[in-house]
Amino acid sequence: MKVLLVFAHPERRSLNGALRDVAIAELEAQGHEVQVSDLYAEGWKSAVDRADFPHWPEGAELRVGAASKKSFETDTLTGDVKAEIEKLLWADALILQFPLWWYAMPAILKGWVDRVFAYGFAYGVGEHSDKRWGDRFGEGTLAGRRAMLLVTVGGWEEHYSPRGINGPIDDLLFPINHGILYYPGYEVLPPHVVYQVDRFKEADFERAAENVRERMRTLETTAPIRYRRQNFGDYLIPAMTLRPELGEGEARGFALHVDTATAL
Ligand SMILES: Cc1cc2nc3c(=O)[nH]c(=O)nc-3n(C[C@H](O)[C@H](O)[C@H](O)COP(=O)(O)OP(=O)(O)OC[C@H]3O[C@@H](n4cnc5c(N)ncnc54)[C@H](O)[C@@H]3O)c2cc1C
Repeated sequence: MKVLLVFAHPERRSLNGALRDVAIAELEAQGHEVQVSDLYAEGWKSAVDRADFPHWPEGAELRVGAASKKSFETDTLTGDVKAEIEKLLWADALILQFPLWWYAMPAILKGWVDRVFAYGFAYGVGEHSDKRWGDRFGEGTLAGRRAMLLVTVGGWEEHYSPRGINGPIDDLLFPINHGILYYPGYEVLPPHVVYQVDRFKEADFERAAENVRERMRTLETTAPIRYRRQNFGDYLIPAMTLRPELGEGEARGFALHVDTATAL
């Protein structure tokens, strides 16, 4: 497989840097080809602004969605964004690696998504009508490819358990897994989360490294999260609500969008 690892940590000598090396070494040992987008090292520009759309008429009000659409259609996105889009189209699998900062991804990575997931590429794809709401959530440009998160967190696993004070980790990561990765079509694998990292000792690192190796060895075979597909009958369109008869047991909120009932 071809794998793109997007790395969002400012320090190569960090724990994230060490786990990144472990991941790449294992992927290569398995015969995969790897490219890395090291956002801090490359000085990634994270804020979307007028400079992203050099062909948008000077003085005209900037409408980001419209400018993104026009620039994608006319192949006039900036070179850094185009290079990332090329890498995404090259890769069979995408790994986003980051430390959890304030219950979210670091701003530089969010900015990578904001700029690279352009209109016409990652959103605004397919027919939009009262019967069909675009190719997204199970369809889209990146359909057929795999994606997963590799995340380090300071808190304990219990803190992120269903009754933990931080909220369940799957809920915290839902906007990324479902809203960013599943949206343009990726099959999203369960995230790999390394907990309680700030007090890591050598032995903790060895264990964490082996767990990362195992996830890399199974990147091609791990079953994706069974998010429901938008255009295949589970949702009422255009309301985009889950049909009232679906949703298992006590499922509420984000959990409703995972199909745990249908046989594989
Ligand atoms: C702004 C900010 C916001 C945060 N928000 C949250 C939050 O919302 N929720 C939460 O749970 N946590 C939060 N944290 C904690 C954060 O998630 C962790 O600090 C981060 O995941 C640690 O990753 P790192 O790569 O920076 O680790 P590092 O700081 O590089 O290392 C962590 C530990 O591992 C050791 N280590 C590093 N490399 C190795 C190695 N090769 N071998 C052995 N040991 C090693 C280091 O000595 C250190 O003890 C936040 C931190 C910051 C700075």
